[in-house]
Amino acid sequence: MTEDAKARLDKVSANIARAAKLSGRRADDIQLIAISKTHHAPAIRPLLEAGHRRFGENRVQEAQAKWPGLRAEFPDVELHLVGQLQSNKAEDAVALFDAIHSVDRPSLVSALAKAQQKTGRHPVCFIQVNIGDEPQKGGCPIKDLPDLIKEARSADLDLAGLMAVPPADLEAAPYFALLAKLARDHGLKGLSMGMTGDYETAVKLGATHVRIGSALFGARG
Ligand SMILES: *Cc1c(COP(=O)(O)O)cnc(C)c1O
Repeated sequence: MTEDAKARLDKVSANIARAAKLSGRRADDIQLIAISKTHHAPAIRPLLEAGHRRFGENRVQEAQAKWPGLRAEFPDVELHLVGQLQSNKAEDAVALFDAIHSVDRPSLVSALAKAQQKTGRHPVCFIQVNIGDEPQKGGCPIKDLPDLIKEARSADLDLAGLMAVPPADLEAAPYFALLAKLARDHGLKGLSMGMTGDYETAVKLGATHVRIGSALFGARG
């Protein structure tokens, strides 16, 4: 089990390093976020023991149940929220997470600003963009992005960049390229893009944060 986790981590890290090299980038400029949603502590611990410290979850409540215990053992864990966030959970999210990748609407920007004031914590934020313009998907419509960036900046969020999940059945590369262009146009350096199926492509197109679940933990049940 522990060996497995270490082998998977090494393999994903090597793939990231190779994709970085092929595109003239430094592997150090890409952060690997291990998405541990649906997995319990016994599945997560081997990665922690292998030295990995950056993890992501998609639900606040699930993370609250799991991470305080693990953090007591591994205090330097860095936690990222990658799932949709309800405004009434903003304070819990700010209290627990070091980064929030799913800022997607003005009401959430206000809720996060309020939560920051109350808790004194300032997680790094990414605006999630609905890059494929899919009605069922979360994320800010591309046309609303300039205003939302302005609001996030004036609300004093620590805005690092943009995040997206491209449409499931289409080639991801054009969507990654579009997200990179939008970030560049707005002077944002962070690009949270790339999952198990497409992270090497994402790295070649400029990803600074890749969010990887299945390749590290196996398929989710
Ligand atoms: C689950 C999830 C991931 C990881 O997906 P895998 O395909 O298992 O690597 C990445 N990003 C988000 C937003 C997710 O919900």
